[in-house]
Amino acid sequence: MTFSTEINTPVCRPDSGEKFIFPPFLQEITFNKYSADDLRSLIGIKKLYLRGAAFVGQGIASGLKREGIDIEGYLDSSPRLKGKILHGKPVYNPAEILGGENAANDIFIIMTSGYWQDEFVEEFAQYGLKENIHYISVYDLVPIFPSIDISGVCNLRCIGCPRGNMREHPPVGFMKPDTYTLVIDKLLREIPFLGEVQLYTWGEPLLNKHIHEIIAINKERMVLSIISSNLSLPVDMEKFVKSAPDIVRVSCSGWKDNYEITHTGAKWELFYKNLNDLVEMKNKFQKDIEIELYFHRYIHNTEDFEKVKELAENLGVTFRPVLASLYPRENHVKIRLGREISSEAKKQLTLLTPFSIKLLDGSIKKSPDNRCFENRTFSINWNLNVRVCGVYYMPTVADNFLEKPLTELVQLVATSETCAMCEKADANFCGKILTAEVFDIKND
Ligand code: SF4
Repeated sequence: MTFSTEINTPVCRPDSGEKFIFPPFLQEITFNKYSADDLRSLIGIKKLYLRGAAFVGQGIASGLKREGIDIEGYLDSSPRLKGKILHGKPVYNPAEILGGENAANDIFIIMTSGYWQDEFVEEFAQYGLKENIHYISVYDLVPIFPSIDISGVCNLRCIGCPRGNMREHPPVGFMKPDTYTLVIDKLLREIPFLGEVQLYTWGEPLLNKHIHEIIAINKERMVLSIISSNLSLPVDMEKFVKSAPDIVRVSCSGWKDNYEITHTGAKWELFYKNLNDLVEMKNKFQKDIEIELYFHRYIHNTEDFEKVKELAENLGVTFRPVLASLYPRENHVKIRLGREISSEAKKQLTLLTPFSIKLLDGSIKKSPDNRCFENRTFSINWNLNVRVCGVYYMPTVADNFLEKPLTELVQLVATSETCAMCEKADANFCGKILTAEVFDIKND
């Protein structure tokens, strides 16, 4: 594989310069802790497993493979992943492998979920496994998780999303393949184990007519393409499926009329047809695409939970419920500081579960040792602006991603006024609870 060299972009170097001290409310980010050779020495003759088989796990498997390191499989106890084969590798029940005879001498593990890292460390301790001998963190290899918003526009105006509830918007446009190549190659020079990229944040990626080429650019580099789409737009589904994105998350917030309330401007019939077409084409062309139906739970769609779950089961796709919230984080800061939010944002609040509201208004306190994860969600806009983090819409820390090394960019985030304001307003709570399995959080 060769990287693009059209522009001599600055890249970060290991251990260069004075150590930067991150503020205590943010995660500490260090680059290039291990080279591929370091990692090979650490693993030795042990079998390598990844603890966590979600997107990050699948991505790191791809990044490791590019560096010539193969995994034995994934360890994951999530029911939705039970018995699955992901990109050719099996998902095992963790207890089966961790509890195996002589496991401490036979296995090496990379924890691939930052959210669940504390729980994993506790679990490993039960089996006598020790950090840096038996396991390391994904952050030691991939310290940030980039999203590249290849479309600076959306077809919908969902009231829970800044496209539908903010008055001010960033520039509109699309990233072209040549620019994308420069971006991904800079990222790979700076994060050699990078194996997955989200091609979206606030934009609808399928509106970018170059999406097929962008997916192909990623494939050449063994980088998984993660797409999230509302699927409520005309799509050349055959062309899209043939481009074979690795993971497609389809967002859904109800059944029929309920869906159209919070997917504001969307049409259920079009969404439903596209979802069915997506699955049909995937099966017809036998593409290894993981499709996830991402169900946003509100008060008004409680009755729809089972229907959407059944739809996912019938289609053979993953059902993934999450508690709906209000985005972007600018709205949280306003709420916490008692400032006015838009009428659309107010309407969204009326539909959220009481638990989601408590998280927003500060009734649920974050723990004192909570360090915000979001500074690892590194966000690049279609026009190369670098946003402060993945949950903010407008604030940027740099105009052009290509002009500064990643080390400097993550430091610009850490010293930004937005982060300081976010901490002051106590609006940087951990989103783990919203993304965790929420089946049990019913009528709270
Ligand atoms: S702006 Fe807030 S949510 Fe984003 S990284 Fe900074 S503290 Fe975290």
